[in-house]
Amino acid sequence: MTTTSTSDERPAVLDPEEVGLVQHWIGGEPVPSASGRTGDVFDPALGVVTKRVGLADQADVDRAVAAASAAYPAWRDLSLARRQSILFRFRELLEAKKDELAEIITSEHGKVLSDALGEISRGQEVVEFATGLAHHLKGEFSEQVSTGVDVYSIRHPLGVVGIISPFNFPAMVPMWFFPIAIAAGNTVVLKPSEKDPSAANWLGALWKEAGLPDGVFNVLHGDKTAVDGLLMHPDVRSISFVGSTPIAQYIYETAAKHGKRVQALGGAKNHMLVLPDADLDLVADSAVNAGFGSAGERCMAISVVVAVEPVADALIERVRERIAGLRIGDGRRSCDMGPLVTRQHRDKVASYVDVALEDGAEVVVDGRDVAVDGDANGFWFGPTLIDRVPTTSRVYTEEIFGPVLSVVRVGSYEEGLALINSGAFGNGTAIFTNDGGAARRFQHEVEVGMIGINVPIPVPVATFSFGGWRQSLFGDTKAHGAEGVKFFTQQKAITSRWLDPSHGGVDLGFPRS
Ligand code: NAD
Repeated sequence: MTTTSTSDERPAVLDPEEVGLVQHWIGGEPVPSASGRTGDVFDPALGVVTKRVGLADQADVDRAVAAASAAYPAWRDLSLARRQSILFRFRELLEAKKDELAEIITSEHGKVLSDALGEISRGQEVVEFATGLAHHLKGEFSEQVSTGVDVYSIRHPLGVVGIISPFNFPAMVPMWFFPIAIAAGNTVVLKPSEKDPSAANWLGALWKEAGLPDGVFNVLHGDKTAVDGLLMHPDVRSISFVGSTPIAQYIYETAAKHGKRVQALGGAKNHMLVLPDADLDLVADSAVNAGFGSAGERCMAISVVVAVEPVADALIERVRERIAGLRIGDGRRSCDMGPLVTRQHRDKVASYVDVALEDGAEVVVDGRDVAVDGDANGFWFGPTLIDRVPTTSRVYTEEIFGPVLSVVRVGSYEEGLALINSGAFGNGTAIFTNDGGAARRFQHEVEVGMIGINVPIPVPVATFSFGGWRQSLFGDTKAHGAEGVKFFTQQKAITSRWLDPSHGGVDLGFPRS
């Protein structure tokens, strides 16, 4: 057992010759970066660089888009039945090999193995949804809209689609998009986070094993240069982005300016409203699970508990007891919570404890003093509970994206609701109560995209669509479900008439009957 608070030691960097290089995956094979630029990939539980990732320049972007463009016509033209069988095979391989992927995720992101497996299952749900492509792509048909005339619609793929994903779900977030995009007949260039790039390559190799033609799924690694290359590339038809709000807004504006269809999911600050009649043990379990799971690095994490008095004291006591029972440490050692993704992010999250103290909040549990089962150089920061957080404090107004749970005390349901509706973000929220009428009123009155009723992380299943309101989503189309199918297809409406001997000759007006 190692006890560490704030380690100021710089992480040891292994000899570059000793660490692996994560290359692009283009045209069904690893491809070195033309730029020669690389980024460090850490194992956050060890605090060392374990790999380097090639960072794309424009030549790499062009190569990936060219591979996707070349693969598009044949993939678009492949029968639904053939596409479907490849998706089924991908699903079976993913199920059989998911432990390998989970280990990769834990080694680069830091989340515990069980949580990495959880993220894979949620992504797999979308693959399973996409296997129904023959149903999802069905068009509409109206017979005899005018005499001898039928109208029908077809859902047609877009072409080459770009996906840009964040570090916190290196497998699940790309899987929100690419199974549906591929099922619909598009070809994909995925630009994953440079912080944990290997999951994307693993998925590329899995597609190849499943029989996907080379070039249908490509992975381009990199930073802003790679992203901008995709946003401005004339052959990229759409952009699906998930990440922080400032970047989501930039992506939305830039991609739209370059004529692309865009969905850009941004940041979050999710509130849990606790009414006085709620079951406080359920609330405490839920707040701890949703606040500290994946070290709070989830866009659907609960970061603010809004306690309608008089519940706050009793609830805080229960949360504090549960925090004391958590094991923090290396995700490979059956711990409950792992490290943060980088030292820089860890330090930023830790800095909010000072902000809380300066702003007059009460730090009930301080994550800087955490005892861990892991290497002293890991990027550790423990579960943190802060009571009486002023709503003017940056602890309340900013997305912290770490294991920091704030408590705001309010006097009534109305006060809590007004607080939630006044926030900049509208990703997720939850109400805890045993009053069905109050819950129903909340689902109607709250201005947030995803709502839980006695469910702390209300991520919709793949048959529904995922996305928030306000600054949590730029664009009008959410991820997966029916909206995902709509995003990755464009409609053709066909008006058809097969002439028969009774056709009426020349008529310059609209058809009337
Ligand atoms: P990020 O915005 O820093 O990065 C996301 C992607 O954008 C990465 O691929 C990155 O390489 C790229 N990028 C970063 N800076 C860029 C720039 N200046 N120009 C162009 N591209 C750039 O986000 P992150 O730190 O990787 O992920 C955490 C954030 O993602 C949090 O804000 C979290 O709430 C959000 N998130 C939102 C959802 C959602 O569904 N709304 C889901 C997961 C994560």
